[in-house]
Amino acid sequence: NKYVVIKHHIEDAPKESNFEIKTVDFTLSVESGSDDIIVKNLYISIDPYQISRMKSHSSSQGAISFALPITPGEPIDGAVIGKVVASGNAKFHKDDLVLGVFSWAEYSLVKEGNILRKIESSEFPLSYYLGVLGFNGLSAYAGFFELCKPVKGEKVFVSAASGAVGNLVGQYAKLLGCYVVGCAGSQKKVALLKEKLGFDDAFNYKEEKDLNSTLKRYFPDGIDVYFDNVGGEMLEAAIVNMKTFGRVAVCGVISEYTNTGMRASPNMLDVVYKRISIKGFLAADFLNVFEDFFIKTLDYIRSGKLKVIEDVSPAVESIPSAFVGLFRGDNIGKKIINLEQE
Ligand code: NDP
Repeated sequence: NKYVVIKHHIEDAPKESNFEIKTVDFTLSVESGSDDIIVKNLYISIDPYQISRMKSHSSSQGAISFALPITPGEPIDGAVIGKVVASGNAKFHKDDLVLGVFSWAEYSLVKEGNILRKIESSEFPLSYYLGVLGFNGLSAYAGFFELCKPVKGEKVFVSAASGAVGNLVGQYAKLLGCYVVGCAGSQKKVALLKEKLGFDDAFNYKEEKDLNSTLKRYFPDGIDVYFDNVGGEMLEAAIVNMKTFGRVAVCGVISEYTNTGMRASPNMLDVVYKRISIKGFLAADFLNVFEDFFIKTLDYIRSGKLKVIEDVSPAVESIPSAFVGLFRGDNIGKKIINLEQE
């Protein structure tokens, strides 16, 4: 069984050389009556938040991570969809499809507590349950609708807009009837946002010298809602350009994860005088709207109103570059490892 480990804690931008692929002997059977379940991993979700778990516990970001730290040399876990190969637990049977917190590996030995849900049947590719129909979708839906309380016609700005969460925020905002501008890190991504995903406009932030005036160009009357995936200078520029009573949902601050010295420092006088709301959130806070999110999103996908953008790589060996690539902007849409054919 091949699995991925970090060789040591990672304090700044991750590199492929920080990771190692290990191999162990692995039996694909369990003793009857034991609680053990063996899962063949089919789809592995690759997510930026994992970097906080890879920092040493004494570093500032490591200490505030909401998930348990990852120990160098030990298997890394994360959201995975797999198929049960063998089970000593009567609730799970061979060939059941399960979504849970499993290893970045070909196979995982898990307990019932690692399994979040069974997937009974699916009209869509299973990988959707890790992205658009999973926590990325819920983050976009809850962060946008529940936190920002958007209204038709409002002006919405989304950063990391071609990413797993960002592209969905933009699409939900368009479906509501908002004016939406996204930023992303390449011309190819900008073209995708405008030509395929229906954004009203988009720009490549890497080509802009002064983000304040860039945002003024796209939002001459100001921004009502900013969905922030990146923090840093983009958050600072967005605050300058927010309208009075504007709302900012802070989903993530990826520009700050790998740059321990950098922190966004928005002008708080703007926040006061313009009465801007800035709120951080975790998708897990919004399980109460999961059903609502899931049903609406299924309908949007079925009717073709919502496009699903995935970026898929094969094999456990590609996990390090897939993960590192998130911080270089390699991925377009949800980053997934597909082990189905392995
Ligand atoms: P993405 O699919 O958006 O992948 C990350 C993208 O971020 C890259 O493709 C890159 O796109 C962009 N990026 C990387 N480094 C920088 C940088 N220094 N400055 C600006 N942009 C950068 O990932 P997700 O959609 O999974 O996650 C997006 C954000 O949402 C992250 O901050 C993540 O931690 C957060 N998140 C929060 C959740 C919650 O519950 N609050 C749940 C899920 C995600 P580009 O080419 O445009 O630079």
